[in-house]
Amino acid sequence: MYDYLIVGAGLYGSVIAHEANKRGKKCLVIDKRGHVGGNIYTEKVNGVDIHKYGAHIFHTDDEEVWAYVNRLVTFNRFTNSPLARYKDKLFSLPFSMYTFNQMWGVKTPDEAKKMIDSQREAYKNIEPSNLEEQAIKLIGKDIYDALIKGYTEKQWGRKTTDLPPFIIRRLPVRFTYNNNYFSDRYQGIPEDGYTALIEKLLEGIEVNLNTDFFENHKMYEKQAKKVIYTGMIDQYFNYQYGHLSYRSLRFENEMVDTENYQGNAVVNYTERDIPFTRIIEHQHFTFKEQKPTLITREYPVDWEIGDEPYYPINDNDNNLLYKKYRELADQQDKVIFGGRLGTYRYLDMDDIIRLALDQCKKLFD
Ligand code: FAD
Repeated sequence: MYDYLIVGAGLYGSVIAHEANKRGKKCLVIDKRGHVGGNIYTEKVNGVDIHKYGAHIFHTDDEEVWAYVNRLVTFNRFTNSPLARYKDKLFSLPFSMYTFNQMWGVKTPDEAKKMIDSQREAYKNIEPSNLEEQAIKLIGKDIYDALIKGYTEKQWGRKTTDLPPFIIRRLPVRFTYNNNYFSDRYQGIPEDGYTALIEKLLEGIEVNLNTDFFENHKMYEKQAKKVIYTGMIDQYFNYQYGHLSYRSLRFENEMVDTENYQGNAVVNYTERDIPFTRIIEHQHFTFKEQKPTLITREYPVDWEIGDEPYYPINDNDNNLLYKKYRELADQQDKVIFGGRLGTYRYLDMDDIIRLALDQCKKLFD
């Protein structure tokens, strides 16, 4: 008999397991994948940590969370400064004085603001009814056309005129020469990869991989006093109200026979006709240069049952559906639903740790 059965060896499940284990609780962690870490899993190829499920950069303003992860592993000083490639021109992201200089040749914030204002004048007094109008109202037409339109349409598989404006209520725009994508106080990547962080969290805990909870969930639930479930909430309830929707991704890896393919960890491809959204060159996350180098092209794809559910689609219909599942979840006293799939939300890693630690306070204090 276990005190806790934890379904999912991702970041959320691993933090809960770690905290429970520290307090002498007997835990069993199961995961249907063949490795721990969920989507933050990294795997060594030629000594370089490969971000198997997309680029992951840890960034936070939460002192407690930053101290928590730094007690477990050492972080490097990686700073995310992605580039966007449009018709063979490169632009800095997020939108900053570098981007405005590259786009129009302007050099001062005043010149950049005047340029943007002249391009969004016509949208000043309208209430945007779709993402296109919202984006032009925020940043003007040139940047929208080159850097937002195609990328967003690929990302969501829909035209920007068919997407709701709330997706980009705000855009990170800076009138300084600062291309650090995040404005959080702390940022970095574990020097030995995210898998090392998860392994530290799970040290001394029983973990069964290649084990799907739904192969025999009644038997698993009987084995523990409490269950922490981090899988899809609708699946737990046998999709009785229907399926929640997601956007999925396909990753295509290529070993390139050069020691530095693109000079940066992340380059976005913003043209609509290029089917992938970005290329990741993993070695730049670790400040290494070696031949050959592994690159990954990331293709957004429609999600179907059985595919990896990457991004929840939090539109009205799905949010209402989630609410119905949430009501069922709230009636369970043995099972706690957590993590990104259990709460049907996009959550960064620091949010996940914060939520897991808060849950632990409720469970153990
Ligand atoms: P998961 O990592 O999904 O873990 C859930 C686990 O449960 C999985 O291992 C799964 O196999 C397992 N599971 C599910 N169902 C079952 C079942 N029936 N039986 C057994 N096991 C099951 N965050 C950042 O802070 N910075 C970033 O740069 C960043 N980049 C991202 C890029 C991409 C492409 C994506 C999709 C996300 C990114 N994130 C980033 C978010 C980050 O991935 C999440 O915060 C984190 O992975 C969530 O952890 P989790 O434990 O909730 O979920």
